[in-house]
Amino acid sequence: MNYRHIYHAGNFADCLKHIVLTRILLHLGKKEKPFFALDTHAGIGLYDLSSDEAQKTGEWQDGIARLLGEKEKGLLGRLTGICAPYLDLVTDLNPEGGLKCYPGSPKIIDRLSRAQDRAFFIEKHPVDVEQLKVNCGRDRRLHVRADDGWVALRSDLPPQERRGLVLIDPPFEQANEYERLVAEFLKGYKRWSTGIYCLWYPIKARREVDQAAGMLKEAGIANSLRAELVIHKLDTAKRLNGTGLFIINPPFTLHDELKLLLPFLAQTLGQTAQRSHLEWICPPD
Ligand code: SAM
Repeated sequence: MNYRHIYHAGNFADCLKHIVLTRILLHLGKKEKPFFALDTHAGIGLYDLSSDEAQKTGEWQDGIARLLGEKEKGLLGRLTGICAPYLDLVTDLNPEGGLKCYPGSPKIIDRLSRAQDRAFFIEKHPVDVEQLKVNCGRDRRLHVRADDGWVALRSDLPPQERRGLVLIDPPFEQANEYERLVAEFLKGYKRWSTGIYCLWYPIKARREVDQAAGMLKEAGIANSLRAELVIHKLDTAKRLNGTGLFIINPPFTLHDELKLLLPFLAQTLGQTAQRSHLEWICPPD
Protein backbone atom coordinates (compact mmCIF):
# COMPACT_ATOMS: atom_id res chain seq x y z
CA MET A 1 0.00 0.00 0.00
CA ASN A 2 2.31 2.75 -1.25
CA TYR A 3 -0.32 5.00 -2.80
CA ARG A 4 -0.89 8.35 -1.06
CA HIS A 5 -3.56 10.56 -2.54
CA ILE A 6 -1.98 13.75 -1.16
CA TYR A 7 0.40 13.72 -4.18
CA HIS A 8 -2.58 13.86 -6.56
CA ALA A 9 -5.28 15.75 -4.65
CA GLY A 10 -7.11 18.30 -6.78
CA ASN A 11 -5.63 17.10 -10.07
CA PHE A 12 -7.65 16.85 -13.29
CA ALA A 13 -8.90 13.37 -12.37
CA ASP A 14 -10.17 14.56 -8.99
CA CYS A 15 -11.93 17.47 -10.72
CA LEU A 16 -14.00 15.18 -12.94
CA LYS A 17 -14.65 12.60 -10.20
CA HIS A 18 -15.61 15.18 -7.60
CA ILE A 19 -17.85 17.24 -9.89
CA VAL A 20 -19.73 14.05 -10.77
CA LEU A 21 -19.90 13.17 -7.07
CA THR A 22 -21.51 16.53 -6.29
CA ARG A 23 -24.05 16.08 -9.12
CA ILE A 24 -25.06 12.64 -7.80
CA LEU A 25 -25.32 13.79 -4.17
CA LEU A 26 -27.43 16.80 -5.11
CA HIS A 27 -29.73 14.53 -7.09
CA LEU A 28 -30.10 12.18 -4.11
CA GLY A 29 -30.83 15.15 -1.84
CA LYS A 30 -33.81 16.22 -3.94
CA LYS A 31 -36.05 13.67 -2.20
CA GLU A 32 -36.78 13.97 1.51
CA LYS A 33 -36.13 10.24 2.05
CA PRO A 34 -32.69 9.46 3.51
CA PHE A 35 -29.87 8.21 1.32
CA PHE A 36 -26.79 6.10 2.01
CA ALA A 37 -23.27 6.58 0.66
CA LEU A 38 -20.48 4.02 0.68
CA ASP A 39 -16.98 5.27 -0.15
CA THR A 40 -14.92 2.08 -0.45
CA HIS A 41 -11.48 3.73 -0.86
CA ALA A 42 -11.94 6.93 1.06
CA GLY A 43 -8.48 8.47 1.51
CA ILE A 44 -8.00 11.09 4.27
CA GLY A 45 -10.94 13.36 3.43
CA LEU A 46 -9.13 16.69 3.40
CA TYR A 47 -5.84 17.60 1.73
CA ASP A 48 -3.35 20.36 2.48
CA LEU A 49 -2.16 21.66 -0.87
CA SER A 50 0.63 23.59 0.82
CA SER A 51 2.15 20.35 2.16
CA ASP A 52 5.52 19.15 0.85
CA GLU A 53 3.85 16.18 -0.84
CA ALA A 54 1.25 18.23 -2.76
CA GLN A 55 3.83 20.90 -3.61
CA LYS A 56 6.23 18.26 -4.90
CA THR A 57 3.95 17.23 -7.78
CA GLY A 58 1.90 20.43 -8.03
CA GLU A 59 -0.80 18.43 -9.83
CA TRP A 60 -3.59 20.57 -8.36
CA GLN A 61 -2.24 23.57 -10.25
CA ASP A 62 -3.34 21.96 -13.53
CA GLY A 63 -6.62 20.81 -12.00
CA ILE A 64 -8.68 22.66 -9.42
CA ALA A 65 -6.55 25.83 -9.65
CA ARG A 66 -7.32 26.12 -13.38
CA LEU A 67 -11.05 25.64 -12.79
CA LEU A 68 -11.16 28.25 -10.05
CA GLY A 69 -9.24 30.56 -12.38
CA GLU A 70 -11.91 30.12 -15.07
CA LYS A 71 -14.59 30.91 -12.50
CA GLU A 72 -12.79 34.06 -11.36
CA LYS A 73 -12.47 35.22 -14.97
CA GLY A 74 -16.20 34.59 -15.46
CA LEU A 75 -15.51 32.02 -18.17
CA LEU A 76 -17.68 29.15 -16.93
CA GLY A 77 -20.65 30.23 -19.05
CA ARG A 78 -23.20 27.42 -19.38
CA LEU A 79 -21.12 25.31 -17.01
CA THR A 80 -21.65 27.66 -14.07
CA GLY A 81 -24.59 25.75 -12.60
CA ILE A 82 -23.02 22.32 -13.08
CA CYS A 83 -19.67 23.28 -11.50
CA ALA A 84 -20.89 25.68 -8.81
CA PRO A 85 -21.62 23.18 -6.00
CA TYR A 86 -18.11 21.71 -6.37
CA LEU A 87 -16.24 25.00 -6.77
CA ASP A 88 -18.22 26.70 -3.98
CA LEU A 89 -17.42 23.81 -1.65
CA VAL A 90 -13.68 24.22 -2.34
CA THR A 91 -13.95 28.00 -1.85
CA ASP A 92 -15.84 27.52 1.44
CA LEU A 93 -13.01 25.34 2.75
CA ASN A 94 -10.59 28.22 2.12
CA PRO A 95 -12.29 31.10 3.97
CA GLU A 96 -9.11 33.18 3.98
CA GLY A 97 -8.91 33.06 0.20
CA GLY A 98 -6.34 31.24 -1.91
CA LEU A 99 -6.25 27.50 -2.30
CA LYS A 100 -4.80 25.54 0.60
CA CYS A 101 -7.49 22.98 1.51
CA TYR A 102 -8.90 20.51 -0.97
CA PRO A 103 -11.80 18.17 -0.14
CA GLY A 104 -11.57 14.44 -0.67
CA SER A 105 -14.66 12.40 -1.46
CA PRO A 106 -15.63 11.89 2.25
CA LYS A 107 -15.61 15.64 2.88
CA ILE A 108 -17.77 16.21 -0.22
CA ILE A 109 -20.23 13.55 1.00
CA ASP A 110 -20.14 15.12 4.48
CA ARG A 111 -20.98 18.59 3.10
CA LEU A 112 -23.70 17.47 0.67
CA SER A 113 -25.55 15.02 2.90
CA ARG A 114 -28.31 15.93 5.34
CA ALA A 115 -29.26 15.09 8.92
CA GLN A 116 -31.24 12.03 7.78
CA ASP A 117 -28.50 10.60 5.52
CA ARG A 118 -25.75 8.15 6.42
CA ALA A 119 -22.30 7.36 5.04
CA PHE A 120 -19.63 4.70 5.49
CA PHE A 121 -16.04 5.67 4.69
CA ILE A 122 -13.71 2.70 4.32
CA GLU A 123 -9.94 3.16 4.29
CA LYS A 124 -7.33 0.44 4.65
CA HIS A 125 -4.15 2.43 5.23
CA PRO A 126 -3.61 2.53 9.04
CA VAL A 127 -2.23 6.08 9.07
CA ASP A 128 -4.73 7.49 6.57
CA VAL A 129 -7.73 6.07 8.40
CA GLU A 130 -6.72 7.91 11.59
CA GLN A 131 -6.37 11.12 9.61
CA LEU A 132 -9.78 10.48 8.05
CA LYS A 133 -11.32 10.12 11.52
CA VAL A 134 -9.93 13.54 12.43
CA ASN A 135 -11.15 15.13 9.19
CA CYS A 136 -14.57 13.49 8.79
CA GLY A 137 -15.28 11.26 11.78
CA ARG A 138 -16.83 13.63 14.30
CA ASP A 139 -20.37 13.35 12.98
CA ARG A 140 -22.62 10.48 14.08
CA ARG A 141 -24.02 10.18 10.55
CA LEU A 142 -20.58 9.40 9.16
CA HIS A 143 -18.86 6.12 9.99
CA VAL A 144 -15.13 5.82 9.35
CA ARG A 145 -13.85 2.24 9.32
CA ALA A 146 -10.39 0.69 8.92
CA ASP A 147 -11.26 -2.09 6.53
CA ASP A 148 -10.90 -3.50 3.04
CA GLY A 149 -13.14 -1.60 0.63
CA TRP A 150 -13.60 -4.64 -1.60
CA VAL A 151 -15.01 -6.60 1.34
CA ALA A 152 -17.30 -3.68 2.25
CA LEU A 153 -18.97 -4.03 -1.16
CA ARG A 154 -20.35 -7.30 0.14
CA SER A 155 -20.72 -6.65 3.87
CA ASP A 156 -22.35 -3.18 3.67
CA LEU A 157 -24.78 -3.73 0.81
CA PRO A 158 -27.71 -3.44 0.45
CA PRO A 159 -28.23 -0.51 2.82
CA GLN A 160 -31.43 -0.11 4.81
CA GLU A 161 -32.13 3.23 3.06
CA ARG A 162 -32.54 1.47 -0.30
CA ARG A 163 -31.33 4.56 -2.15
CA GLY A 164 -27.87 5.98 -2.45
CA LEU A 165 -24.41 5.91 -3.92
CA VAL A 166 -21.34 3.68 -3.94
CA LEU A 167 -18.04 5.29 -4.91
CA ILE A 168 -15.28 2.84 -5.81
CA ASP A 169 -12.00 4.68 -6.19
CA PRO A 170 -9.07 2.26 -5.79
CA PRO A 171 -5.41 3.27 -6.12
CA PHE A 172 -4.66 1.05 -9.17
CA GLU A 173 -1.40 -0.22 -7.70
CA GLN A 174 -1.82 -3.75 -9.06
CA ALA A 175 -1.59 -4.99 -12.64
CA ASN A 176 -5.06 -6.59 -12.64
CA GLU A 177 -6.89 -3.61 -11.12
CA TYR A 178 -9.28 -3.05 -14.07
CA GLU A 179 -10.62 -6.61 -13.93
CA ARG A 180 -10.76 -6.44 -10.16
CA LEU A 181 -12.69 -3.16 -10.28
CA VAL A 182 -15.39 -4.65 -12.50
CA ALA A 183 -15.45 -8.07 -10.80
CA GLU A 184 -15.80 -6.60 -7.30
CA PHE A 185 -18.39 -4.06 -8.48
CA LEU A 186 -20.44 -6.95 -9.90
CA LYS A 187 -20.45 -8.63 -6.47
CA GLY A 188 -21.81 -5.46 -4.87
CA TYR A 189 -24.29 -4.90 -7.71
CA LYS A 190 -25.62 -8.43 -7.27
CA ARG A 191 -26.53 -7.50 -3.69
CA TRP A 192 -27.91 -4.06 -4.55
CA SER A 193 -28.79 -3.44 -8.19
CA THR A 194 -30.71 -0.19 -7.72
CA GLY A 195 -27.92 1.88 -6.16
CA ILE A 196 -25.95 4.49 -8.08
CA TYR A 197 -22.37 3.30 -8.60
CA CYS A 198 -19.42 5.43 -9.62
CA LEU A 199 -16.24 3.51 -10.53
CA TRP A 200 -13.02 5.43 -11.12
CA TYR A 201 -10.23 4.29 -13.45
CA PRO A 202 -7.05 5.78 -14.90
CA ILE A 203 -6.49 6.00 -18.64
CA LYS A 204 -2.93 5.07 -19.52
CA ALA A 205 -3.59 2.94 -22.58
CA ARG A 206 -6.85 2.40 -24.45
CA ARG A 207 -6.93 -1.42 -24.55
CA GLU A 208 -7.33 -2.12 -20.81
CA VAL A 209 -10.14 0.43 -20.49
CA ASP A 210 -11.99 -1.05 -23.49
CA GLN A 211 -11.67 -4.49 -21.91
CA ALA A 212 -13.17 -3.29 -18.62
CA ALA A 213 -16.06 -1.61 -20.46
CA GLY A 214 -16.49 -4.87 -22.42
CA MET A 215 -16.79 -6.80 -19.14
CA LEU A 216 -19.61 -4.52 -18.01
CA LYS A 217 -21.37 -4.85 -21.36
CA GLU A 218 -21.03 -8.61 -21.30
CA ALA A 219 -22.48 -8.71 -17.79
CA GLY A 220 -25.52 -6.89 -19.21
CA ILE A 221 -25.43 -4.05 -16.68
CA ALA A 222 -28.23 -1.81 -18.00
CA ASN A 223 -28.08 1.94 -17.48
CA SER A 224 -24.28 2.14 -17.47
CA LEU A 225 -22.34 5.15 -18.66
CA ARG A 226 -18.69 5.63 -19.61
CA ALA A 227 -17.32 9.16 -19.19
CA GLU A 228 -13.71 10.02 -20.03
CA LEU A 229 -11.37 12.96 -20.12
CA VAL A 230 -7.99 12.68 -21.88
CA ILE A 231 -5.38 15.40 -21.29
CA HIS A 232 -2.30 13.74 -22.81
CA LYS A 233 -1.63 11.88 -26.04
CA LEU A 234 -1.79 8.14 -25.46
CA ASP A 235 1.79 7.74 -26.69
CA THR A 236 3.13 6.27 -23.45
CA ALA A 237 1.37 4.09 -20.89
CA LYS A 238 3.73 5.27 -18.15
CA ARG A 239 1.85 8.46 -17.36
CA LEU A 240 -1.73 9.27 -16.36
CA ASN A 241 -3.02 10.36 -19.76
CA GLY A 242 -6.63 10.54 -18.84
CA THR A 243 -9.31 9.64 -16.36
CA GLY A 244 -12.60 7.85 -16.58
CA LEU A 245 -15.72 6.89 -14.69
CA PHE A 246 -18.14 4.05 -15.16
CA ILE A 247 -21.42 5.29 -13.74
CA ILE A 248 -24.17 2.76 -13.20
CA ASN A 249 -27.76 3.92 -12.65
CA PRO A 250 -26.79 7.58 -13.10
CA PRO A 251 -29.32 10.28 -12.24
CA PHE A 252 -31.34 10.88 -15.42
CA THR A 253 -29.91 14.39 -15.83
CA LEU A 254 -26.26 13.35 -15.58
CA HIS A 255 -25.77 12.24 -19.19
CA ASP A 256 -26.76 15.66 -20.51
CA GLU A 257 -24.67 17.43 -17.88
CA LEU A 258 -21.63 15.37 -18.85
CA LYS A 259 -22.25 16.17 -22.52
CA LEU A 260 -21.58 19.81 -21.63
CA LEU A 261 -19.02 19.26 -18.90
CA LEU A 262 -16.57 16.86 -20.55
CA PRO A 263 -15.63 19.02 -23.58
CA PHE A 264 -15.27 22.00 -21.27
CA LEU A 265 -12.93 20.09 -18.94
CA ALA A 266 -10.95 18.80 -21.93
CA GLN A 267 -10.50 22.33 -23.22
CA THR A 268 -9.65 23.79 -19.80
CA LEU A 269 -7.51 21.00 -18.34
CA GLY A 270 -6.11 19.40 -21.51
CA GLN A 271 -2.36 19.51 -22.08
CA THR A 272 -0.88 17.56 -25.02
CA ALA A 273 -4.40 16.30 -25.84
CA GLN A 274 -7.87 17.75 -25.24
CA ARG A 275 -10.33 14.94 -25.73
CA SER A 276 -13.39 13.59 -24.04
CA HIS A 277 -15.67 10.65 -24.57
CA LEU A 278 -19.17 9.86 -23.38
CA GLU A 279 -21.16 6.76 -24.23
CA TRP A 280 -23.78 4.43 -22.88
CA ILE A 281 -22.19 1.02 -22.32
CA CYS A 282 -25.75 -0.23 -21.98
CA PRO A 283 -28.52 2.38 -22.22
CA PRO A 284 -31.31 2.54 -19.66
CA ASP A 285 -34.10 -0.04 -20.26
N1 SAM B 1 -11.74 8.53 -2.86
C1 SAM B 1 -10.71 9.47 -2.43
C2 SAM B 1 -11.10 10.86 -2.91
O1 SAM B 1 -11.72 10.97 -3.99
O2 SAM B 1 -10.79 11.82 -2.21
C3 SAM B 1 -9.36 9.10 -2.93
C4 SAM B 1 -8.97 7.69 -2.66
S1 SAM B 1 -7.37 7.21 -3.20
C5 SAM B 1 -7.50 7.23 -4.93
C6 SAM B 1 -7.38 5.49 -2.85
C7 SAM B 1 -7.32 5.17 -1.34
O3 SAM B 1 -7.59 3.77 -1.18
C8 SAM B 1 -5.97 5.41 -0.67
O4 SAM B 1 -6.15 6.27 0.42
C9 SAM B 1 -5.52 4.01 -0.21
O5 SAM B 1 -4.83 4.03 1.03
C10 SAM B 1 -6.84 3.30 -0.08
N2 SAM B 1 -6.82 1.81 -0.22
C11 SAM B 1 -5.97 1.03 -0.90
N3 SAM B 1 -6.38 -0.25 -0.89
C12 SAM B 1 -7.54 -0.27 -0.17
C13 SAM B 1 -8.49 -1.28 0.17
N4 SAM B 1 -8.32 -2.56 -0.23
N5 SAM B 1 -9.57 -0.95 0.89
C14 SAM B 1 -9.77 0.34 1.29
N6 SAM B 1 -8.92 1.35 0.99
C15 SAM B 1 -7.82 1.05 0.26
